[in-house]
Amino acid sequence: MKEDIIKEIVDEEKIQSILDKTKSPSKKTILYILDKAKEKKGLSLEEVGFLVNINDRELQEELFRTAGKIKDEIYGERLVFFAPLYVSDFCINDCDYCNFHIRNKDLKRKKLTLEEVEEQVKILLNMGHKRLLLEFGEDPINNSIDYVVEVIDKIYSIRIKEGNIRRVNVNIAATTKDNYRKLKKARIGTYQLFQETYHISTYKKLHHGPKADYLRQITAHIRALEAGLDDLGLGVLFGLYDWRFEVLGLVSHAQYLDKKFGVGPHTFSIPRFRPAPTVTYTPEASVSDEDFLKIIAILRLAVPYTGMIISTREKPQIRKIAFKIGISQASACSVTSVGGYGKKRNQPQFEIYDERSLSEVINDVIEDKFLPSFCTACYRSKRTGEYFMNLAKPGKIHNFCRPNGILTFAEYLEDFAKDGLYEKGYRLIEFYLNKIEGENIKRITKEKLEKIKQGQRDLYF
Ligand code: SAM
Ligand code: SF4
Repeated sequence: MKEDIIKEIVDEEKIQSILDKTKSPSKKTILYILDKAKEKKGLSLEEVGFLVNINDRELQEELFRTAGKIKDEIYGERLVFFAPLYVSDFCINDCDYCNFHIRNKDLKRKKLTLEEVEEQVKILLNMGHKRLLLEFGEDPINNSIDYVVEVIDKIYSIRIKEGNIRRVNVNIAATTKDNYRKLKKARIGTYQLFQETYHISTYKKLHHGPKADYLRQITAHIRALEAGLDDLGLGVLFGLYDWRFEVLGLVSHAQYLDKKFGVGPHTFSIPRFRPAPTVTYTPEASVSDEDFLKIIAILRLAVPYTGMIISTREKPQIRKIAFKIGISQASACSVTSVGGYGKKRNQPQFEIYDERSLSEVINDVIEDKFLPSFCTACYRSKRTGEYFMNLAKPGKIHNFCRPNGILTFAEYLEDFAKDGLYEKGYRLIEFYLNKIEGENIKRITKEKLEKIKQGQRDLYF
């Protein structure tokens, strides 16, 4: 039954009753949960309930400290960068919060031709990007699955002297198992789809068109898994409903996939609502900066092995703190309109906050000793899904990630560094090279680094 499967994934009544039961947690309870989180085995929904109800400053600081420690132990110093590529803003839905909604008659709709895809991708490659996230509105005619696949094939075929796009992640509307099989065949990286809100009546109020079908949306990842896609991204659009409820919804969804399929989500996305030209909707449950950081910290504790993505919807100052307490992937230098890189821009999907170039962002994060990574090795070496988790959980993934982060950052420095970044970057590489555990792997990394300096590219473990 429809209601049963929804309840199995996210049980609204249960979440509500947990939230009521866990109000005003004691210091002892919170310290116990934070201690348990340090084991990096995740938390129960009830424990997450206590954490979202923290309202003591001292305990909040302790929460951030614990999240920072877990982030550091699992993800280390690496920060993976990517850029979104808006391919088509044709959309038959009428989501209240999105500027691509069908009611927007001022938008001159656009879908990229394959030549335009090539133009946009070359601009992104020339900034240093190696990973893209493709964005499409939902429109079975204009954005048919065959068009989506053609665009992906095209992107993988593009090469410039400095390299190519090595991982294409995709964010398209919920679809059928057959269509997910086509995405699998097209060798996508992560398939991302956000629930937007887990709260059913809010979901129904804000969505009109095929996306209004809550069941279709919440079961999409199951169809994707059954079609063989095993790197999946979940997400919430924060601001639509009480963030505390949404955090429990997200954790419940992740735990369901993990339990049922043995594969938890590869990533969480946590966008906050941003204004847009024709959007009159104002968020009913705006999330403050402080609560936003709490969301990140709590998710880091609750589902430690799921990467977390932050976008340019956030201000540089918030991103800086977020990197320390849980974020492992970030977009940089994004444009949210179709065909907008290097061109006069069409109306965007929403306004962004962080408008810095990729090199400005990199200069900033290395000040905090983060190692920018463009690594795409795991999925190309078939370390995905359950296999990935089996390496990640005992901490073995470090053996691959640090060297691969170093090698991809070195490529970036060789090809794109300007104004002193080259020297600063190599000082950071030297620092982390010395931290590689295992003399053999350290030696091979050094050899590969030399080859990169001599012009070889795409060397990885
Ligand atoms: N059309 C597909 C869909 O709706 O699933 C693809 C994704 S859409 C291009 C990317 C995401 O942008 C949406 O899932 C939504 O969470 C987010 N989004 C839409 N409007 C937004 C706004 N005003 N502010 C922030 N994020 C927004
Ligand atoms: Fe269309 Fe996606 Fe925007 Fe909704 S969020 S209007 S489905 S592009």
